[in-house]
Amino acid sequence: MTVDNIIDGKAFAAGLRRKVAAEVVRLKKDHDITPGLSVVLVGNDPASAVYVRNKGEQTKEAGMVSSEHRLAADTPEADILDLVNKMNDDPSVNGILVQLPLPHQIDENKVLAAINPNKDVDGFHVTNVGRLWTGSDALVPCTPLGCILMLKDRLGDLSGKSAVVIGRSNIVGKPMAALLIAESCTVTIAHSRTVNLADLCRDADIVIAAVGRPEMVKGEWIKPGATVIDVGINRVEAPERGLKEDGSPKTKLVGDVQFTDAAGKAGAITPVPGGVGPMTIACLLRNTLVAACRQNGIAPPPI
Ligand code: NAD
Repeated sequence: MTVDNIIDGKAFAAGLRRKVAAEVVRLKKDHDITPGLSVVLVGNDPASAVYVRNKGEQTKEAGMVSSEHRLAADTPEADILDLVNKMNDDPSVNGILVQLPLPHQIDENKVLAAINPNKDVDGFHVTNVGRLWTGSDALVPCTPLGCILMLKDRLGDLSGKSAVVIGRSNIVGKPMAALLIAESCTVTIAHSRTVNLADLCRDADIVIAAVGRPEMVKGEWIKPGATVIDVGINRVEAPERGLKEDGSPKTKLVGDVQFTDAAGKAGAITPVPGGVGPMTIACLLRNTLVAACRQNGIAPPPI
């Protein structure tokens, strides 16, 4: 492992946020437009509350208008659909994000389908999924967008490279595969039923792990010089860090990749934490800027 082969997602995300902020200043100066992002949080999930707070703070830091709608956990589905429709009609709202997961009485697909695709900064609406796979102007899901930006920054032209995406979720795995295909990679999507995962990885120039199983991808699976993007976020017990007040072991975050071993083989690798994670909100801000430009008939900046 060399320090050079570790991709610093925190620094890369900070750079992207700075570029977005500079474009926000320009949009205000040239067109008197300030992009607005509205986030809807239903219920009291503590992790979701932290995400929403961070999104709000970084939106304001980028010079955009941030608004939050915090609704009780027992809010009826119809009320959320009404709110989404109001935001669809509000020209000061350029991006709408409904924080998932939603409480059980609410049909997530129905709510996501109600968002105007041109304001769908999470890129989950089927219209944006279709636009992504057909190569037209989509709003692209933030986490895979962050991964492809880091890959292109590190490797330049991805054309002809073989990539294995481990995971087939709508949020990460599938859009990641679409983005890699658009960059002319040869893509294999692996999942829970894949039988020869180690061999597939050994042949890959690029390995993207988006599973949610701690350190599942072994260092020995990585081809020397390959690029490894670890999307997984897993909290595991870390007895080496001592005990919490209640006597249970302290915990730490690890990715889906056995980091130390894989870093010894990889040409470049993202750590967890500090790799893909910080890129997600930075890409949300980028998507909000792009959405605001397109809604006003302005070509989005190439960032
Ligand atoms: P998911 O549970 O929806 O999907 C997991 C995928 O892994 C599934 O497609 C499944 O087929 C596959 N899988 C399960 N076991 C497997 C195995 N043994 N071999 C190969 N594939 C297997 O999860 P998700 O929403 O795609 O998230 C994946 C991980 O990425 C999670 O750890 C999540 O926390 C993390 N994540 C991070 C960010 C971020 O950094 N901002 C964003 C989204 C997700």
